[in-house]
Amino acid sequence: MIKKLFLLPGDGIGTEVMTEVELLIQWFNDRGIASFETESGLVGGSAYDAHGEAISDSDMALAMAADAVIFGAVGGPKWDSVPYDQRPEAGLLRLRKDMELFANLRPAICYPALAGASSLKKELVDGLDILIVRELTGGVYFGEPKTITDLGNGQKRAIDTQIYDTYEIDRVSRVAFEMARTRSNLVHSAEKRNVMKSGVLWNEVVTQVHKESYSDVKLEHILADNCGMQLVRAPKQFDVIVTDNLFGDILSDVAAMLTGSLGMLPSASLGAEDEKTGTRKALYEPVHGSAPDIAGKDYANPIATIGSFGMALRYSFGMGDWATKLDDAIAAVLDKGLRTRDLAQEGDKVISTAEMGKAIIAELDAIAG
Ligand code: NAD
Repeated sequence: MIKKLFLLPGDGIGTEVMTEVELLIQWFNDRGIASFETESGLVGGSAYDAHGEAISDSDMALAMAADAVIFGAVGGPKWDSVPYDQRPEAGLLRLRKDMELFANLRPAICYPALAGASSLKKELVDGLDILIVRELTGGVYFGEPKTITDLGNGQKRAIDTQIYDTYEIDRVSRVAFEMARTRSNLVHSAEKRNVMKSGVLWNEVVTQVHKESYSDVKLEHILADNCGMQLVRAPKQFDVIVTDNLFGDILSDVAAMLTGSLGMLPSASLGAEDEKTGTRKALYEPVHGSAPDIAGKDYANPIATIGSFGMALRYSFGMGDWATKLDDAIAAVLDKGLRTRDLAQEGDKVISTAEMGKAIIAELDAIAG
């Protein structure tokens, strides 16, 4: 069956790391393992230069029709002064909104070869494999009212509103429970029910969904502040953490940094399951930005974007075995001491973006036999 991929490389190093993913896609096609059909579009600053907007309607339509979107990165100083609605990030926000991508998956995996590079002790992070599921389309970032009012007495008042409806908590917790079933079968649900009404509802709905549909999965409730503390104290106690948009933003960054460089971190954003086809709208992207400081130099680490493609294999195409093989290939390259500049320590061999991409494909080739 042909699988339709829509590639949006974006700006800066986005285009460099996407080239490595394209070579990997080609490898899967050449080997006859899968039949990927790709189309490419423009997003961010490059789309603004071409069309005057951060993503065109025609590229948006291609994204909506694809089986998965692979996104690079957007932004850069060149577009710092473009109008707010056309700024590079507006392209990504429109994709998330129009595709209704409500569940953001951020794995934090510590490859053995990089355990020494973490800011935590090696034994705390060696073999770490956790997944944060963050609610992405609701909560305090979107709730209304959202205002700053001049009180007229030299004071101003700022208001943000945290809102969650039952269905929003229900659907994201289902994603977390489903993910846990494919992993170590444990979900921690993080909220602040001790001080927030939205935390009380969050706790209630997750408990209900668990009781109704996922009682085979172990569920623990944890206060979000304690979750942050436990993540740096003993991160290996976690498997899947599900939480709201605000806490997820913070906790996923904490978890991410346990594993070293920004250049290593993949992510996936998933929409609702189509009842007829069982498929979901999905966008896969590295966590990092367009890194203008190293763009065009062949320094960028492509592993975050290659890992994001690995997540597409697992979550959009039912190719979890190949996602695991791809992870093994990345681990093998790192075991050999090959490093892009962001990962390099004394004695490591520093290689370019293209060399890293090529080395991973060579290992995958060897693993595939
Ligand atoms: P950044 O992630 O682009 O870079 C932060 C630092 O990490 C830089 O020193 C960079 O060189 C390094 N880095 C990032 N990715 C790397 C990789 N793959 N390999 C090696 N080193 C890497 O964040 P920033 O500097 O704050 O932002 C730069 C631009 O990217 C801004 O315009 C920002 O708005 C945009 N941005 C976009 C996204 C996105 O597209 N999702 C995310 C964050 C930032």
